[in-house]
Amino acid sequence: MWFLCNDYVYEPVAYSLSCVQKASINWATSWDELPTRTRCRASLNWSQSVLGKPSSGIGKMWTIILIASFAVLGTSADIGPELWRVEAPGHHIAVRALADEGNVDVWGHTPSHTKVLVEAEAKSRVARALDEANLKHSVEVPDVLALVEEERAHMQEKRRKRESEQMDWTTFHDLEDIEGFEEWLNFTSSQLVQMASVARTLEGREVRLVRITDPSTPGPKKKIWIEGGIHAREWISPAVTTYLMHQVAVSPEWRDILKVTEWYFVPVANPDGYAYSFSSPRARLWRKNRSQNGPSARCKGVDLNRNWNLKWGVGASGNPCSETFKGKEPFSEPETVGLGRAMHRVRDIDVFITFHSFGQTVLYPWGWTRDPPANVKQLSRLARKFNEGVKAASGGRTEYEIGGSGPLYGLASGASDDWAYGALQVPFSYTIELPDTGSHGFLLPESEVSRVVVETNSGMHCMIGFLTNIGPCARHGTNRSKSVGFRGFRG
Ligand SMILES: [Zn+2]
Repeated sequence: MWFLCNDYVYEPVAYSLSCVQKASINWATSWDELPTRTRCRASLNWSQSVLGKPSSGIGKMWTIILIASFAVLGTSADIGPELWRVEAPGHHIAVRALADEGNVDVWGHTPSHTKVLVEAEAKSRVARALDEANLKHSVEVPDVLALVEEERAHMQEKRRKRESEQMDWTTFHDLEDIEGFEEWLNFTSSQLVQMASVARTLEGREVRLVRITDPSTPGPKKKIWIEGGIHAREWISPAVTTYLMHQVAVSPEWRDILKVTEWYFVPVANPDGYAYSFSSPRARLWRKNRSQNGPSARCKGVDLNRNWNLKWGVGASGNPCSETFKGKEPFSEPETVGLGRAMHRVRDIDVFITFHSFGQTVLYPWGWTRDPPANVKQLSRLARKFNEGVKAASGGRTEYEIGGSGPLYGLASGASDDWAYGALQVPFSYTIELPDTGSHGFLLPESEVSRVVVETNSGMHCMIGFLTNIGPCARHGTNRSKSVGFRGFRG
């Protein structure tokens, strides 16, 4: 039996920077010719953020959008969605049709049943379609919004207790916190950390890339690309990505590996969607970006993880109302275009990982076919190293399932991992579905955040340690007796 000692997992990081300090932030200029951005925001924005959430231009825009959305939703705004259990696998033709038409949002499935979120206005329609297909269903969670409200209350309580502008991993952080933290990390580790903006979203936000490398050690180095937050509601993904970014930059556990690696982090690949998911209880379960697909407010957004240009369209919806809407064409969205272009420019990426939730699985390509990829043995072996690291940190409590994403989750194309593997020839490309296995789904309790970030960091350390032959997971076990890695995280 073991438990995490929260005080020891991390020191909360105060990320407050003055405008003068922000002027020293190391924005990328030459290393990959990526576009740069304004070096210092108006100080007014920052002083407002100390007092509370700022009423920035974007914030005002959100207020307008929200009012507009509720106007469209009308009186149904206070009636929440339900989580249903349908006695059929996710690939059943009736379930698939309901999802493609945007009537249900599939949360997960097993060979015997599927869990779907059903909006109030769609309940009778969905029940009718299931009856017609002779599929039994039951209501598993009658009031999903109540769970969201609970989460919000908890977060507000945490925020009240926290110093302003302080990063930690006991709660979920909004986009403003994450960007402030990135800037702080850049400022305080300026020799190691650079930032760039790789895209500007429809609503004017940046998609940021944070590069971490030690310039005092010679290359060539293994290049590792970590993508977080491409699906808005999967809040544990940016939490894991920011934690890992922090550990790689500052932790002695990572120092030797950092000498031979070069990291590219995208903590929030879908900033418009992520910001929206924090804006109200009803927006909490938003998945896509916020593209305008037509006049209806309900049918906004493109699934950015169905929009990459590799076998685009297989297992993705052409209906803008669907949660898996693939977009009008491949790379129709500024986020995917900018990320793809940046990955092209970085070149020769060795490992690509995109963090999602939920499911506790390490998935390798392909998503568009059930056929195994060429180097399936190597992909599987490296995935097992991730699992080993997680098991070590969790005392065996947490374990990941490993497999191809097509065979395990059903066919879906246009995902970033398939594109990295197939179009960019990244030899080790994965989607990691973070905890849990379905009891809380997308609404992972905040009390789980510290455990998940620490375990994932340990998994990554073992995986990259194996790849670079450094540390406790080195292939020849050279350092095995010297360090068990992450022992200090346990209480
Ligand atoms: Zn996802």
